[in-house]
This record gives sequence, C-alpha cells and structure tokens, in this order.
Amino acid sequence: MLKNEDRIFTNIYGNNSWNLTSARRRGNWDSTDILVKKGRDWIINEMKASGLRGRGGAGFPTGLKWSFMPKEVSDRPHYLVVNADESEPGTCKDREILRNEPHQFIEGCLLASFAMNAHACYVYVRGEYIHERIVLQNAINEAYEAGLLGKNASNSGWDFDIYVHHGAGAYICGEETALLESLEGKKGMPRLKPPFPANCGLYGCPTTVNNVESISVAPEILRRGASWFSSLGKTNNTGTKLFCISGHVNNPCNIEEEMGVPLRDLIEKHAGGVRGGWDNLLAVIPGGSSVPCLPASQCQDLSMDFDSLKELKSGLGTAAVIVMDKSTDIIAAIARLSYFYKHESCGQCTPCREGTGWMWRVMERFVSGKAEKSEIDLLLEVSTQVEGHTICALGDAAAWPIQGLIRHFRHVIEERIDNQVS
Ligand code: SF4
Repeated sequence: MLKNEDRIFTNIYGNNSWNLTSARRRGNWDSTDILVKKGRDWIINEMKASGLRGRGGAGFPTGLKWSFMPKEVSDRPHYLVVNADESEPGTCKDREILRNEPHQFIEGCLLASFAMNAHACYVYVRGEYIHERIVLQNAINEAYEAGLLGKNASNSGWDFDIYVHHGAGAYICGEETALLESLEGKKGMPRLKPPFPANCGLYGCPTTVNNVESISVAPEILRRGASWFSSLGKTNNTGTKLFCISGHVNNPCNIEEEMGVPLRDLIEKHAGGVRGGWDNLLAVIPGGSSVPCLPASQCQDLSMDFDSLKELKSGLGTAAVIVMDKSTDIIAAIARLSYFYKHESCGQCTPCREGTGWMWRVMERFVSGKAEKSEIDLLLEVSTQVEGHTICALGDAAAWPIQGLIRHFRHVIEERIDNQVS
C-alpha cells in the first residue's frame, strides 16, 4: 500500500479546507519561485526523468509533450490549456482535485506554463461541474490577491494569468482539439491532425493540452525530485495515480495508489470488496467506459498500469475501475455504453456517425436475443472498421467495449440467442 508520506493528494477527501491557508500548510506554493528560477530546461528534464505519463487516458509522457512546444516564442503567444472536461463514465478524480486541492493544481499551471513559455492558461471545466468551477475560481482569486498569480507571479519574475472556461456538457469536448474549438467559441468538433496543437493549437498558436491530474502532480515532482516519483510504481509506469472505483463494490471510492497496484487490493482493501464476495465478480472495466472489459478470471493477479492492461488488450485509460458482479446483464451494460457513444458522436465522420448507431442497434437486439449468431462476427467486423478509421478516438471508444464483450462473453450472447429461439 502507498505510504502516507508518498501521497501527493493529501486533501483529496476534503477533510480540510481547500483555501490558501490550508493549502500552504499542506506544502502547496512552497518555494515555487525557486523552482521557476531553476529554468525551463531543468523543469522539462525533471518531468521527463520522472516518467510521468499523462493522466487523462492516453498515457503519453508529459515531459516529452512539454518539450514539443517551440523553444522560442515567435509572433504567436504560447498557451497552456487544461482539460478539466472530465466526462468519461466512471471517472471522478479531477472533480475531487478541483474541489479539494485547487491550489495544488493552480501551482502546477504556473510551473507548466513557465516551462512552455506560456503567459496564459485556460482551464476548460466540464459543464456539470458548477461547484468545482466556483471553488477553482475562488482559489484563483485568492492566489491573485496573494501575488501568486498575475504580474511577477509568486515572485518568480514570470507574468502569468489563468482563465476558467465553463463548458456546456458535451463529452466530445474532452477530446483535445474539440476542446480548443469549443474554447474558441465554435462547435466542439475534433480537428484533423496534423497540425498538432504544439504547432497550431488555440487561436492557431502553439498550445499544450494537459489533464488536471497531470498538471497537479507536477509541483510535487519538482519539489521532491524526479527520482522520488520514478521510484514509485513500475518501470515505464511510474509514480502514483488516482483510481476511481465504482459499481458493485461495498465502498465506492477514489484512492491514490502506486501505479501497478494489484486490482484485487484496490477492490478489497480500499473499496470494501465486491458485493457478495470476490467469487461473485463477473467482470471489470479497468479504465473508464471506453476500454474493453476483463472477465473475473483475468482480474485475480491484475497489475493496474498502462503496459499490463495493454497486454490484456484493455487499457488503464483514466483508471476508473467499474466493477460488475454476477447480477449484471453484461450485454445490456455494454449496450448502454454503445448508446452513450452513439449519443455523443459529433457526427463529423461517417464510420463514427453511422457506425455507432448501427452497432448500438445490433447490441440492443443481442440484449433481447432476437438476433442471428452470425451477427456476432458481423458486429465484430464492423467494430474493426470503425476503430482507427475516424478523426478522433471516439470511434475507438465505441468499438472497444463491444470487442471486449465479444472476446470474453460471446457464450453469453449465444446462449441468449439460443434461449430466444427455443
Ligand atoms: Fe466526431 Fe466521431 Fe469523428 Fe470523433 S470519431 S470526429 S466524435 S464523428
């Protein structure tokens, strides 16, 4: 289990106030100016050495991403944009950071922006997160009053402003380029890449888009050192991570643990165990609704990190663990996700616009059993035609849950069809 002294988020449950006085007691804003004065290259090298992989889902190395920004500022300003549009079903970690640890996050925004030569940062907050937006804005106001933001922020010599933007509740705006479009006042539709945001992002300027958790861990990495962070977790999967455990467990919770923590520990030690006991486990969706589910037989010794889950053809994603016990109608559960992705498709590209609806309709027939067995392979084939053939990853997100279902629970679909026929 993660030692208390290695925790980055010490107020994630809101036991103490989010305010500046309380945050300072927890160590936030401690020697921020000294970190800035160590320089851009030092910050980026430390972030690279820490091995931090983006906490928004894709797991791309954060320091490397920062290094993609142009070294010198031309006639176009640089921007940091933070993706606080947390909308992946099952995921509720950034919400707790914004509610309870906003100063940790704001300090991270300053350090990241300085490292990338950005004087301005935009935080795009999910439409439904009204309370979180208010807390964040209040914390930003406090930071301005204390001289931590604005001209010569934190006495670092760097001028820095943060702006909070409130989204309208569309899932697709969590895709980084759709988020930028929405921030610019347009419809939230993903852009074709290239060009990538580091070259042509917000208002056509060099931009980096990072997740709330990735930004929030940066100050502690820089204060305690990259080697401390990389000593936690596993090779290529370093550090700590916030896991969100929901579904059929006795005590749904968010918990910070080391990367690579066994799934069974997460469920039994932190979430009070599977409802009805471990033997009552049917399946787990390990990383938010878009990754393929895993059957109980693969959950026994499962290490929760990017690489281990990839090996099992699933993913760590946002580390939102959705637990399903044996009372679950797994076909109906996945069909519900298919409906979600159909509903959230922006409609811009044909395989996603048409494919998500088509896949959902077939899934609905599987739920009732009114289908042909040959349609199982047909659905699998269509899902592979959607996967990887769209502008953004929503097409993949719609295909993967279905692929996971067919991979592990084909016999359940077949039984239902048999029962309907007989
Ligand atoms: Fe829009 Fe779907 Fe295409 Fe993404 S994959 S751009 S959501 S239609």
